[in-house]
Amino acid sequence: MEKSYSHPYDELLTAYSAGSLPLSQALCISAHLEHCDGCASKLKRLNRVGSELMQNLRPARASATLKQKLMERLDSLTEEEPEVNTEPADASIPRCLRQFIDKGYASLQWKRVSADIHSVELCRDSNGAKVELLKIKAGGSASTHTHLGDEYTVILEGSFSDESGLYRQGDFLVRDETDRHTPVATQDRECICLAVTEGPVQLTGFFNRMLNPFLRRGYA
Ligand SMILES: [Zn+2]
Repeated sequence: MEKSYSHPYDELLTAYSAGSLPLSQALCISAHLEHCDGCASKLKRLNRVGSELMQNLRPARASATLKQKLMERLDSLTEEEPEVNTEPADASIPRCLRQFIDKGYASLQWKRVSADIHSVELCRDSNGAKVELLKIKAGGSASTHTHLGDEYTVILEGSFSDESGLYRQGDFLVRDETDRHTPVATQDRECICLAVTEGPVQLTGFFNRMLNPFLRRGYA
C-alpha cells in the first residue's frame, strides 16, 4: 500500500491522545492512523507521556467524589463498549467507521449531489459538525467551494488532486474557511473520502453562488 504523506499536525494528535477532540475530528484521526505507521507510533509516544504525567499527579489532589465518578465512568465505558464487527464484507473500511458501514460502501444510501459527486451522512457530532462520506467519480470534480468552519478530509479509497497537490489513500487534510479548492478525482478510479465539515459548504462558482441559498436551507 502506498504510504500517506499528508498528516494531522501535532496539536491535533496531542488532543486526540488526551481524548479532548470532538468525536467527528477523532474519527478522522482514527481513520488516518489505520493507514499511517508514522502517526500511529507518534501517538503511542504521546500516550506514554500522558500516562506518565497522570502517574506523577499527587493522589491527594483528586477528591474522593471525583475518584468515585471516574471509577463509575470507567465501569460504564466497559459495559457500554459496542461490539465491533471484526469481519465486515469490505475489510478495506477503517475499523472506526464500521459502526456506520457494516456491509461495504456499495450498500450505503448514497445521495446525488452533482453529476460527479454522491454523499451519505454518517452522523452529526454534538457540536453540529457533519460527518459524511463523499464519492467522486473517476475523473470527476467537486465544485470549487469554501466553508464557514474547518473541513477535515481523509481519503479512504482512490485519490484526488486539488490546487495544493495529489492526495492518496490515508491522507489527512484540513482546510479552513480561507481555502478555496476544487478536488478532482484521478482518472483511474472513483475516490471515496471521509469528510467532516463544521459549517455549511459555500460554493464559489457563478452558478453555484445562485444555488447557495438552497444549500444553506438543506435542499441540496
Ligand atoms: Zn500520518
